[in-house]
Amino acid sequence: MTKELPELNVGVVGHIDHGKTTLLSQLTGKFTDTHSEELKRGITIKLGYADITIYKDGEKFNTKKGKPIRYVSFIDAPGHEMLMATMLSGASTIDAAILVIGANEGIKPQTREHFLALQSKNIKNIIIVQNKIDLISKEKALENYKKIKEFVKGTIAENSPVIPISAQQGVNIDKILEELCKIEIPKRDIESEPLFLVARSFDINRPGSEIDKLKGGVLGGILKKGTLKIGDEIEIKPGICTRKANDIQYSPLITKIISLHKGNQKVEKIYPGISISIETSLDPFLTKTDSLTGCVVSKVGILPEQTYVLKIKQNLFSEVFNIKGAQKIKPLKTKEMVMININTTTSVGIIEKVSENEITIHLTIPVIALKGDNVGIARNFENHWRLIGWGEVL
Ligand code: GDP
Ligand code: MG
Repeated sequence: MTKELPELNVGVVGHIDHGKTTLLSQLTGKFTDTHSEELKRGITIKLGYADITIYKDGEKFNTKKGKPIRYVSFIDAPGHEMLMATMLSGASTIDAAILVIGANEGIKPQTREHFLALQSKNIKNIIIVQNKIDLISKEKALENYKKIKEFVKGTIAENSPVIPISAQQGVNIDKILEELCKIEIPKRDIESEPLFLVARSFDINRPGSEIDKLKGGVLGGILKKGTLKIGDEIEIKPGICTRKANDIQYSPLITKIISLHKGNQKVEKIYPGISISIETSLDPFLTKTDSLTGCVVSKVGILPEQTYVLKIKQNLFSEVFNIKGAQKIKPLKTKEMVMININTTTSVGIIEKVSENEITIHLTIPVIALKGDNVGIARNFENHWRLIGWGEVL
């Protein structure tokens, strides 16, 4: 039934503890912190996923009954500053974002950093929520609202809705659903050769499964363009990493699509839209524990070769924020180490050349770079990678 509904990928971003995971569990009925380490530490480490269908019942929006309006797939991004790379690779797969700001704490370093990340990824559809209004007075809420409006003035989010909510008490959640239904669905390109970004990879078999009942290795991610169907031969690049002494090599994998899953539905063919799982004929050993995260997939022979050298056009922000406040961003220099993100891939490298606004980076982990791809650039400040700008693959 959901097949014909418009589909939207939405990232939930914002500072740690401002209520992203709580909001997602209100919106989706699913608690996204499901990894044992996350439950123990009470923070989101990996990207979490959950899907809903939004219905309109009279004038009210909800997730259970009425006329189905659209299908939304959420990504819960980690807010911790150490997890910038994970947040960025999540941001590469979304069409829109909900920026959660704890009204009791206001704008914090990762509110700013995540907001910059959205700008650098050119995500224009942003819904701002002012969370935890149950904890503050009306005056305080108004003051916080004014600060948010100041913060977004002159940016892509200048006219974004700001919705006061209590994620914990379930207040105004329907207003968020309503705003999600107003967002224009981006035009999807189904004519080009397929391009699938791997955001997760896993082995879905329970320990001790019988050999003949084993499921193939699974890739989770987003089809950016084109289509894929059951039976297609696909190529995964850079592929699997093997180490022999000091020699690290990446080898592409060629496999076949066994089954396709969208939400909890099995489908024959996939189009660009929400996150998808692809069951392949690969030995699940090859896909377990996110070993192929960051790879890209297409039909055989379509993707360019992996590269260790990346030439990009750079745009740096003017400031970076941490607990101590704003710090000016100095220009990039040769021999400097940077972390980069392209699509769902993260790599680190040394800058070999800087000329005007072009930089050449020598990477330690190869990437598949397509001309025009967006690149997030992060610099290390006191042992934390901070996003300082973005670029475009030349
Ligand atoms: P995240 O780090 O942004 O994912 O934040 P969490 O969703 O894990 O929430 C952090 C803490 O804030 C938890 O203890 C939540 O119960 C609490 N919290 C989240 N939303 C609200 C809210 O609307 N009101 C109140 N009072 N507490 C909230
Ligand atoms: Mg969380």
